Amino acid sequence: MKSIVVRPPKEGTELVETESPPQPDKGEVLVRTLLTGICGTDRGIVNGRLKFARPPLKREQLVLGHESIGEVEAIGGGVELSKGDIVVPVVRRGCGVCLNCKIGRQDFCETGNFVEAGIRGHDGFMREFFLDQEMYMVKVPPQLKEIGVLTEPLSNVVKALDQLWFLQRRTLWTCEDSTYNCRTALVIGSGPIGLLFSMALSTEGFRVIVLNRRDPSEVESKITEQIGVKFLKLDDGVPPADLVVDTAGSPSTLLRLLPKLKNNGAVILFGTTSGEREELSADVITELVERNVVMVGSVNASKEHFQRGVTYLSVWHDRFPEALKLMITSEVRPEEAPEVLKAKSKGEIKTVLRWSQ
Ligand SMILES: [Zn+2]
Repeated sequence: MKSIVVRPPKEGTELVETESPPQPDKGEVLVRTLLTGICGTDRGIVNGRLKFARPPLKREQLVLGHESIGEVEAIGGGVELSKGDIVVPVVRRGCGVCLNCKIGRQDFCETGNFVEAGIRGHDGFMREFFLDQEMYMVKVPPQLKEIGVLTEPLSNVVKALDQLWFLQRRTLWTCEDSTYNCRTALVIGSGPIGLLFSMALSTEGFRVIVLNRRDPSEVESKITEQIGVKFLKLDDGVPPADLVVDTAGSPSTLLRLLPKLKNNGAVILFGTTSGEREELSADVITELVERNVVMVGSVNASKEHFQRGVTYLSVWHDRFPEALKLMITSEVRPEEAPEVLKAKSKGEIKTVLRWSQ
């Protein structure tokens, strides 16, 4: 079968023929891949920038891809899923030692000895079929077959918001009418993660403003209009806010926006990048202290967050189906993957690889 592999830390990808997986054993499912998404992490691995990328033990190559959706092709003994079910696999597999991993919260692994499909130590999903344990599968309703590939990136957003709700219980953060309608969120970055944060926060009642250094593309304008959020250029009078979500990982942008935070505000750090430097002054720290600002970094997600991601997608599938469809800006064949994996194309939000129908 066809697979897209990388040889970290070497740059580049290859489309190669690999052995098809065997029939599923007890507790296992054989999944036929429908779509896989491409994200910044994949490109970081392909360009040799992500130092933690590594193949499985005693192997030189790693199958790439952690955003996936597929159809169950065959099941092993004791499996509750059925042939034909649509599923999304979770990415991180626990260390087996720490308490968080033992209760399915490998997103909070204490030891750091976890593996991640398509990223570190475990083959990913950019291949025609994969064999996996049922416990790592999240069932997706058939009507989300074309859009469910967004479940993985969305799961990370759901986890980050989970932490926000937890942390903000330190104060009364809801408005006089019990909602979040009086709260404003600034989302830095209009990539897939920025737009998914915007959709989720808007669904939860926030006034959302998406920020970028440039004007919106046509697709970004359509999406933000349909989901009811505002797109602003960074210099265009950004209002005071209760929440800042950084999906760009840009310290200069973040430091410019911190003075906009209101008392008891929160910052979610989600984006990662490298290279840029910006000075954090004592004055900024004093301001954060005086205003009770909380900052949280967030990565990865548990299966629960994948399931709640599916719930959001089901709601959005009814509420703004066009915006959801527009999130996938191009669909390419696996043969084209080595080229599209090199760099983000102009106007791209999410590019997906089509493996089967
Ligand atoms: Zn662990």
